Amino acid sequence: MTKANKAPDWHELAASLRPRTQAFIDGSYRDAATGETFDCVDPANGKVIAKVASCAGIDVDAAVASARSSFEAGIWSQEAPARRKRVLRRFAELLRANRDELALTETLDMGKPIADSLAVDVPGAANCIEWYAECIDKIYDEVAPTPRSALAMVTREPVGVVGAIVPWNFPMLMACWKLGPALATGNSVILKPSEKSPLTAIRLAELAVEAGLPPGVLNVVPGFGHTAGEALALHRDVDCIAFTGSTRIGKRMLEYSGRSNMKRVWLECGGKSPNIVFGDVEDLDRAAAAAAAGIFFNQGEMCSAASRLVVHESVKEALLEKIVSVGRAMAPGDPLDPRTRLGALVDKGQLDTVTGYIEAGRSNGATLRLGGRRVREETGGYFVEPTVFDNVRMDMKIAQEEIFGPVLSVIGFREEQEAIRIANDVMYGLVSAVWTRDVTTAHRVARAIRAGTVYINCYDADDITVPFGGFKQSGNGRDKSLHALDKYTELKTTWIDLSN
Ligand code: NAD
Ligand code: MN
Repeated sequence: MTKANKAPDWHELAASLRPRTQAFIDGSYRDAATGETFDCVDPANGKVIAKVASCAGIDVDAAVASARSSFEAGIWSQEAPARRKRVLRRFAELLRANRDELALTETLDMGKPIADSLAVDVPGAANCIEWYAECIDKIYDEVAPTPRSALAMVTREPVGVVGAIVPWNFPMLMACWKLGPALATGNSVILKPSEKSPLTAIRLAELAVEAGLPPGVLNVVPGFGHTAGEALALHRDVDCIAFTGSTRIGKRMLEYSGRSNMKRVWLECGGKSPNIVFGDVEDLDRAAAAAAAGIFFNQGEMCSAASRLVVHESVKEALLEKIVSVGRAMAPGDPLDPRTRLGALVDKGQLDTVTGYIEAGRSNGATLRLGGRRVREETGGYFVEPTVFDNVRMDMKIAQEEIFGPVLSVIGFREEQEAIRIANDVMYGLVSAVWTRDVTTAHRVARAIRAGTVYINCYDADDITVPFGGFKQSGNGRDKSLHALDKYTELKTTWIDLSN
């Protein structure tokens, strides 16, 4: 094997990693004004890996002031589209060039397998930035078909100062889903990463500046939700909040907006997605593999997790047996081992939440078919086995609430209408899936499901070209695709009278 092909020793690299830990404001790193920090923990062993600047209102004020002045100065917002494109393309290249470091940082910070950080998170983030970079100089504005006595132009302008508040399950990727379209359209951004996974976001700012992004256009304020997050969402000089996180906190964003300046609020929130398998499913092995990946990938810490398997009674037992055997082969392991497919839950709090739901499933009378325990406790890390509950009823907690862990709830059905009713009987509407050989059934059910995405004979298919987001209390607005540009722009009509 040549040296270039040799797999890195991730533990060795981890030992020498010195992540950036400060806030990034107005083009440079600095401590929080109070000097306070919070502990950043590696969930695979419970050890503190870094002390990170804990920003509060005063730091957010500085970041917003910097964003505002960069926006007003026009150093980015009014730059030629072709130049903005070049900068963002370089940014994407720098993400790729730093792939190992970024993937390692992500894995240490939030516990996902290094193989996934390398294959999904870093390339996904880079592709996203690149795709939005490429669209910058290819989108035209409009001239409205008014009577000939007028010329009405419909143009898009950046909304201004954007606050992006993101979660910990795909820290860098969720940040880039906001940064790509927000920066492409000329806004200045303040990014507030989750206190559970701030490290890659902090590093992104430096890479963006290295790529040529002017100071002040991207600021990063690590800190807690109730401090940095709240200050940002309540700030009167922030024009838009782009939020990804829980439905509970998403609702607060709407309140903050109402209490302050009616800033635009875009919400990508939780899910309890139904994966519906009909009796005529073509390939039970494929359906089982997709169902298992849909709930166990990323430790089940997925907004789009296939957390409810809604399956026709005629194939339920056969499918369950296959899912159980796939799940059994996915025992949690060391996130830094490239063979590991299931890592650690993000922190002790999430571990307690997930084991609490497992307990609720048991006491509500669901049938435990696989897993159900915390494992690898001797490591000091927060690992939970892939878990499957059968005979779940829709009135159970584990059928209604987002668990955000590797816990599958299986619900049987007999009639199509019953499957549709079950699918829609939750407050969420993020994604869904239908498995059937019958094209008519597939379309009929797809139309009846209230969700932003319906997968047919697949799950979690993904491409930057398609919009992603929710119906109902899964949120509003869409990430990815050209539709995301709507969130970060205002429409302006310019009407010119041509009559004489
Ligand atoms: P969370 O709502 O607890 O936190 C999200 C972000 O909001 C974090 O940065 C947090 O610090 C901040 N925050 C918390 N309280 C705040 C407050 N009072 N004011 C301002 N900011 C505050 O969510 P989480 O646990 O980090 O992430 C998991 C959730 O994210 C799940 O519900 C998941 O479904 C959702 N999610 C949705 C999508 C999507 O695209 N729809 C993608 C990924 C994750
Ligand atoms: Mn962490």
